[in-house]
Amino acid sequence: MSSTPGLSYSSFHTYLECPLRWKYLYVDRLPETPRGYFSFGRVVHTVLEELLRPLVVPGPRRAGSTDSQRTLDEWQPKSRPLSGPAGMSREEMLALYDRSWTADGYTSAEEETRYRNLGRDLLLRFYDQLERERPQPVAVEEHLEARWDGIPIHGYIDRIDRVAGGGLEVVDYKTSRELSAADALESDQLSLYQVLVESNYTEPVQGLTLYHLRSLTPHRVPPRERASLTSLYDRLGTVSDGIRAQAYEPTPGRQCSRCDFRAICPEFRSVPSGDEARLKELVDRFDRLRSDEERIGTELRDTAAALHHAAEELGIHRLPGSRSVAVRRRDETWQYSLDGLRPELERLGLAGRVSTGRPEEVRRLVRDPTVDPELRRRVAGTGARRVTWYWDLERPDRDG
Ligand code: SF4
Repeated sequence: MSSTPGLSYSSFHTYLECPLRWKYLYVDRLPETPRGYFSFGRVVHTVLEELLRPLVVPGPRRAGSTDSQRTLDEWQPKSRPLSGPAGMSREEMLALYDRSWTADGYTSAEEETRYRNLGRDLLLRFYDQLERERPQPVAVEEHLEARWDGIPIHGYIDRIDRVAGGGLEVVDYKTSRELSAADALESDQLSLYQVLVESNYTEPVQGLTLYHLRSLTPHRVPPRERASLTSLYDRLGTVSDGIRAQAYEPTPGRQCSRCDFRAICPEFRSVPSGDEARLKELVDRFDRLRSDEERIGTELRDTAAALHHAAEELGIHRLPGSRSVAVRRRDETWQYSLDGLRPELERLGLAGRVSTGRPEEVRRLVRDPTVDPELRRRVAGTGARRVTWYWDLERPDRDG
C-alpha cells in the first residue's frame, strides 16, 4: 500500500468533487486546458508577492517546521531605499505586471484586454491602499507543510501578517467577481491554512481573511475553534483513505461542465456503433419492466388492502382462491417514546441504558428491581404496540 498522500486544499477539494478527475490530474498528470481567469489570477498574485516581499519580517517558527523563507535570525532589512510603499514604484510595479503577463487561456483578444485592464486598475488601487496602510507580513506566498494528526497537508499561503497586539493573520487573495464574509466563514481553505500556520509558527492565528482584490475588501473572520476544525479533519481523513485505496469513481455533477476530461471519462463515453442496437433494445426492455414493476406494485398494494378490508369485515384470516389460500399474518412491534422522561433518566444516571430506545433495552430497564417501581411503571407506560398485517399465499400443490 502506498504512503498517505499529502493534501493541498485544491487536491482535497478536487477529490471531494470527483475522485476520477483527481486521478486524471494528480496520478496521470494529464494537462488541463489553460483558462484566462487562472492566468489572470497567477499574474496578479506574482506581482503582489514581489510588491510585498520587501515588507516581510519573518516570524518565530516552531522547531523542525518547513523553512521555505528566511528565518528572523537571517533577516536583514533591504539596503535599497524604499521608493514606494513597499520599495517598488508604481511604474516598476506596472512594468513587472507587463513582464509577467501571459496570454494563456483567453478566448479572444477582447477578453485578454479586458482582464489586462482590470489587473492594472486593481493593482494601482491596491498600491494606493498600501500607501495609506502597510501590512506587516511575516511571509508572502509561503509553502507550508504539516502533519495534522497523521495526515500530511501542505499549501501556498498568499500572505501571513503580524497582528497588532500579537498573533498572526492568514490572508488569501481572491480575484473572483463576488466574495462575502460568509465565504470567509465557510472556507475550508482558510481552515486548512490556519492549521498549517499554527503548526509552523509559534504564534497563534488571530484572524482569517479572504481579500477581495476587485473591491479591496478584506473579509476578516475570527480563527476557527478547535471543534469546528474536526469536520474538516474528518473529511480530509476520508479523502486521504480514498486516495490510498485508489478509489477513483467518477462522480458526475456541476463540475463536469468545466472538466477537461469528459472525452475520456466513462461517465460520458458513448456506445460503440456496433453495440448501439443491442444495447438500445436492452435499455427499452429494462424501461418497460421498470414500468410494469411500478404498476404491479401498486396493484399488489391495492389488492392486499381490499383483502384486508374483507378479512376485517368478516372476521376471518384465511381466504381461499382457486389455486391457493391467502393467509393473513401479522407483525407486531413495540415503540417507546422516552423523550419526556429523558431529563429524569439522565439525572438518575439511567439514560445510557436506554440510549437507543430499542424495546429489548427498555424492557430490561422495566424489569430491573433496583430501579424505582414508579419510574419503571411510567417508562413501561410510554410503550405503544404497532401491528402491521401482510398476506401470504399457501399453495396446496407447492406447500404440500
Ligand atoms: S467529466 Fe465529470 S465525472 Fe467525469 S471525470 Fe470529469 S468531473 Fe468527473
